Amino acid sequence: MRMFRSAAVAALAMSAYAATGPTAAAQTPTATPPAGATPAANTLAFSRVIDLGQGISMLMGAGGNMAVSVGADGVFLIDDQFVTNGSANLAKIEEFAKGKPKYIINTHWHYDHAGGNGAFATAGATVFASDNVRKRITGERVTTGRQALTAPLPKADYPVVTFVDGIDFHLNGQTIRATRAPLPAHTDGDTFVYFVEADVLHTGDTYMKDRYPYVDTGSGGTQAGFIAALEKMLTIAGPNTKIIPGHGELATRADLQAALDMHKGARAAVEAQVKAGKTIEQTLAAKPLKQWTARFGGATGFINEDSYVTVIYEELKAKG
Ligand SMILES: [Zn+2]
Repeated sequence: MRMFRSAAVAALAMSAYAATGPTAAAQTPTATPPAGATPAANTLAFSRVIDLGQGISMLMGAGGNMAVSVGADGVFLIDDQFVTNGSANLAKIEEFAKGKPKYIINTHWHYDHAGGNGAFATAGATVFASDNVRKRITGERVTTGRQALTAPLPKADYPVVTFVDGIDFHLNGQTIRATRAPLPAHTDGDTFVYFVEADVLHTGDTYMKDRYPYVDTGSGGTQAGFIAALEKMLTIAGPNTKIIPGHGELATRADLQAALDMHKGARAAVEAQVKAGKTIEQTLAAKPLKQWTARFGGATGFINEDSYVTVIYEELKAKG
């Protein structure tokens, strides 16, 4: 059983890393790299800490960006990356924060954001997430496509407190306001988290700095949801809000606005092709997103112009 779970988890970690990072070899959580070898990136703890004031920091490394609030009431964490680096991240956060996280919130269920849940929960953290995050992790909602589960995840990974529209935490002098995305966007369980007093917003993967989005349709995601999510976040963010994207460098309100403009423009450009009766091949060949690709087309792997055009095209066709 343990061997089975370990192999399954390694396969999941590999598929998630392939989804978000440039290259990495699969490693089981207990695998020891050969002497002299460089460990896979997703076995390492976060490597960069960006101080955002009032005890809040952005933690960057393999996988999704994390955020931590440290203060008199304890350690609060947003996202926990991979199963493969959960224990390494836990040890480094404990050293940095002088305590283990008491509360964790998952922005969504993907392996590079919620994969560490088990390691942190076993060390005493309570994991919060939207209802659909739990349903995806337990398998109650079946996920298809790139992120499909090949084996059930262990119970320690399950969020134990769930919410539908949002939830507020009152810790470390902050109102920490988690808000559910208005529509399924990156997945059907997306939440963004705003530290009201510190004016810091963690977007989850509804925003990745200067990249085309990953619309995970196998997890219920929709392109229309990205537009709705960005519009909602722009009502939360002020002129000076520090914005932590799901992936990429710290961003600004102007960056979020540029992403919204791109999403709306991309939808209109693809819709023009659909309305003109073009096939998907003709639409891809027309490069309808070319004006945005210089800024948003830099990611490697499957997050690219053509995959984004395809998702929009299929969504508009299905809508009729
Ligand atoms: Zn994701």
